[in-house]
Amino acid sequence: MYVSVDLLEFIPSNRGKGLTLIYKGYTYGHMHSRTRWYCSKKTKGCQAKLSTTADGKLLQVIEGHHNHSPPTLYRTTDGKVIRV
Ligand SMILES: [Zn+2]
Repeated sequence: MYVSVDLLEFIPSNRGKGLTLIYKGYTYGHMHSRTRWYCSKKTKGCQAKLSTTADGKLLQVIEGHHNHSPPTLYRTTDGKVIRV
């Protein structure tokens, strides 16, 4: 099932350290603070970023433009979201 959510969703990141944020089908990772999120393709030159409140609500889309298509995400039957 393809995931299409407008709401923020937080999933554990691959190596169990920190979190991955999903917003509008794009994935974001945080650096030091969990209130500032950078696109997972930041290393590929994508500038998209957003900020959230400390309790995980969207505060501001700082840069909403991505230079790539959204990743393909699937939701497993137990509700987890995985990147393929
Ligand atoms: Zn991006």
